[in-house]
Amino acid sequence: MQGGMGDQFMQAGMQDDMDSEKADIAKTLEKLPDSHAALVQGYNWKLHPGNTLNGDEEHVGYMDDQDKEIAISSPWNYGREFTVLHEIAHRVWEKLVPPEYKKMWFHIVQNTQDKQDQSPEELFCMAYANRYAKNKIVIHDHPQWHEFIERLPQ
Ligand SMILES: [Zn+2]
Repeated sequence: MQGGMGDQFMQAGMQDDMDSEKADIAKTLEKLPDSHAALVQGYNWKLHPGNTLNGDEEHVGYMDDQDKEIAISSPWNYGREFTVLHEIAHRVWEKLVPPEYKKMWFHIVQNTQDKQDQSPEELFCMAYANRYAKNKIVIHDHPQWHEFIERLPQ
């Protein structure tokens, strides 16, 4: 038997979920400085239900400039908004953080106690996500990190 009532309801429900996730992402982008949000303007977000993306243990997402696509997974430990912000942060790091700021960041990270064992760029993305996410991740929450994100070029 094909496509009973139940299937139609289910498809409608999935469509609603996708629309509401797009609306949520738009709301998150509104919290960011314009120049940061502009870095992902026109990109299509692909939200994957899995804990990681195919065969990639380390990264919660990736950005494809050719196809203008940003894919993110649903890591156990992080909320969807945190993950979205983490991916934007990689782009901010790459495009908007000047070299002298990066040096400052390396110094801050070196002097942060009880941080996770990850690269400075990854930790920057955690700090950035924590600055703007509604649900903050305690292990990445440090006052000096918030301060640094506040002082980024806008
Ligand atoms: Zn990352």
